Amino acid sequence: MQAQIRHAADQELVTWVGTLADELGKKAEQYDRSGDFLSDQIAYLQSAGYSSLTVPKAYGGRGCDLYQLLLAQERLAHGDPSAALVMGWHLGITLSLSMTEAWPEELYADFCRDVVLGIALVNACGTEPDSGSPSRGGRPATEAVRVEGGYRITGEKTWATGSPAITHFLITAYVAEDDRVGEFLVHKGSEGLHVKKSWDSMSMRASGSDSVVLQDVFVPDAYLLDLVIPGQKTKRSSDGSGWLLHIPATYLGVANAARDYTIDFVKTYVPSSLGKPIATVPHVREKIGQLEAQGAMAETVLWAIARRYDEATMEQKRSMREDLSLAKYIVTNAAVAMVDLAMRTAGGQSILRTHPLERYYRDVRAGLHNPPMDDVTVRQLADRALGK
Ligand SMILES: Cc1cc2nc3c(=O)[nH]c(=O)nc-3n(C[C@H](O)[C@H](O)[C@H](O)COP(=O)(O)OP(=O)(O)OC[C@H]3O[C@@H](n4cnc5c(N)ncnc54)[C@H](O)[C@@H]3O)c2cc1C
Repeated sequence: MQAQIRHAADQELVTWVGTLADELGKKAEQYDRSGDFLSDQIAYLQSAGYSSLTVPKAYGGRGCDLYQLLLAQERLAHGDPSAALVMGWHLGITLSLSMTEAWPEELYADFCRDVVLGIALVNACGTEPDSGSPSRGGRPATEAVRVEGGYRITGEKTWATGSPAITHFLITAYVAEDDRVGEFLVHKGSEGLHVKKSWDSMSMRASGSDSVVLQDVFVPDAYLLDLVIPGQKTKRSSDGSGWLLHIPATYLGVANAARDYTIDFVKTYVPSSLGKPIATVPHVREKIGQLEAQGAMAETVLWAIARRYDEATMEQKRSMREDLSLAKYIVTNAAVAMVDLAMRTAGGQSILRTHPLERYYRDVRAGLHNPPMDDVTVRQLADRALGK
């Protein structure tokens, strides 16, 4: 991580996030066990100002670019992966909105004001029980019907990370009369909207990735943010969606936490049969070397692509799709390999429910199922190499 710090502002950010991560880390295991949504961890981050990291300075935020967002997310995930995932979606979307100007100015300004006050969080809810990943472009089963002054939306979204704390839900719905897919802003507390507790997973257990149920929810015309042909990209994607790199940064943070634990462990674990730390044993050193190689590969790719993205024009950003997907592919797969190597190094105790590596193992797996998925990435790369 040290090598990725470019200047004093990066260092100050990472040091500050480190104190937040350490505080969250005190309760992360407890939340993982219960599977309850970590509402007080999120409230703590909001009151500390973490949720306004990517709000532009002009609106009272910290104005972090993508590179700094990833630095922060990687560090936060050491302490609490589930909390980092909730924040990653919110911060990434907030950053993207500032670049794409996909929302009317007044709406974005109001949203930013509430984020800075610590009372607003956004997430996009695209996945549905039968749709699979929205990144594959399927038409939503959720429907919006035009009524006087707006729309009535009915449907169900699943895997909605952070939904118990989200105030601004971005909901995709099919508008049959236009044969278009709309993206609507639906506020928490809207009549007919409720969060159904459905999240019971082995990974990211405290992330509150529950279901959002909408029954005839009225949404005024002003909150129809986009209307596109099914499968077509929205205005929010006009920045090439580099913000999605918050995902690999988070899982790299999980893997680096496993790596740090393991380095410490091999230096201090002295089995009676050996009489000295296992860090002296050749096969242990070899695994540590492999772990370091995976970590270095992931970091080299992630930071290089993030830097290139920040420096690119909007047009160049849009043409980075395959490289952004590739970064996610390399980093999340390396993160899974790192935790696997850490467990092989630590030995049998790593599978005990009380062991930190057991939790990192479960959490890091989730990265494979966040977009873009590996099959999509390798297809994009093949298309680039061979033509469609
Ligand atoms: C921790 C976590 C948090 C998440 N948070 C959110 C969130 O906040 N908001 C949100 O909207 N979603 C969220 N998701 C959901 C995520 O974006 C995916 O929708 C979900 O993981 C299912 O993706 P999938 O690719 O496994 O499913 P599917 O798309 O159903 O794919 C299942 C299998 O079928 C294959 N397949 C399916 N369709 C095709 C096709 N057309 N062509 C080729 N192969 C196909 C896939 O390759 C895969 O092997 C989250 C997921 C996780 C793990």
